[in-house]
Amino acid sequence: MPEINTLEKTAEKINAEIRRDPFTGNSVSLVKNGAPKKDIKKVIAEYPYGSPAVIVGSPHEHDLIMETPPRVEGRNNNIYDSRTPTGAHEYLHCDPNHPSMLEYLLIAFKDRILGLRTIRGVRYIAAFLESKNQHDGKLVAEVVAFPTVPPAIKSELIGSSKHFDLRDNRCLWCDIIKEEIASWERVIYQNDFALSIVPYQQRYEFEAHLFPTKHTADFGYLDRHELQHLADALDQTIKRIKLHSEGDYILDIHTVPLALPPSDNLSQNKDISHFFHTHIEVTSISAKEYGRTGIYRRNGTPEELAKLLRQYF
Ligand SMILES: [Zn+2]
Ligand SMILES: [Zn+2]
Repeated sequence: MPEINTLEKTAEKINAEIRRDPFTGNSVSLVKNGAPKKDIKKVIAEYPYGSPAVIVGSPHEHDLIMETPPRVEGRNNNIYDSRTPTGAHEYLHCDPNHPSMLEYLLIAFKDRILGLRTIRGVRYIAAFLESKNQHDGKLVAEVVAFPTVPPAIKSELIGSSKHFDLRDNRCLWCDIIKEEIASWERVIYQNDFALSIVPYQQRYEFEAHLFPTKHTADFGYLDRHELQHLADALDQTIKRIKLHSEGDYILDIHTVPLALPPSDNLSQNKDISHFFHTHIEVTSISAKEYGRTGIYRRNGTPEELAKLLRQYF
């Protein structure tokens, strides 16, 4: 008998704004203080997989969250660009004591990444878990549908698009997977369908990138088998990191954008799904930077960290 789960959603209706940084083109999402907030708290959905491990929102409720008003653009001599966002923000409550929590979390992420893409104007769906976000003994993961493509994803696309052009239409991540398996220097764990490594360009005290070994751009297209293997690699990775760090971590799904802004000529008639490879990034919260330059510094190498994490189990 599947358990009936509760859904908690916080909606911010029309009191949010997306502003574009005139220098970088990146977006900042603002919520006006004091604007009326629409809170919805009700028992709505039974989790489709009948698991008590993860509680997920109903796919039919997303239209309560934000509307799609006309875009406001080009105020103040065309320097500034602002718009009311369209999208959704959902919270997934996960039971950290459930032995298959990570597997059900990935299944729920896939489910919501597919479910929220029907909202008009959505370009990217972010899915993440910050381990410090807890409520009533549950870990709270989030899924956010944005009308814009986040800078982290855009930067990855710029690099992978160049690689695709220069290297006979090859996916940068597929090449990295091949290279990492061959050298084994930065591998933490591997199973039949997934690989976990410390990235060559490690920025954080702890950082692991996990990939399905078969090329797939869209997290929503991973099958149950691949999600199970990714969850296994994730479980092994997080367990090992926890042996060395008491600190919190962030688990981030990176998936292909649904669309790029029309002004963005990144894809230049190429299909971005050929040069984006979905992956999961696990990072510790803090990173040392030189001021706020975006240049990271750290003690120790990714090879040393991978060696340390590889030795268990
Ligand atoms: Zn690939
Ligand atoms: Zn990434």
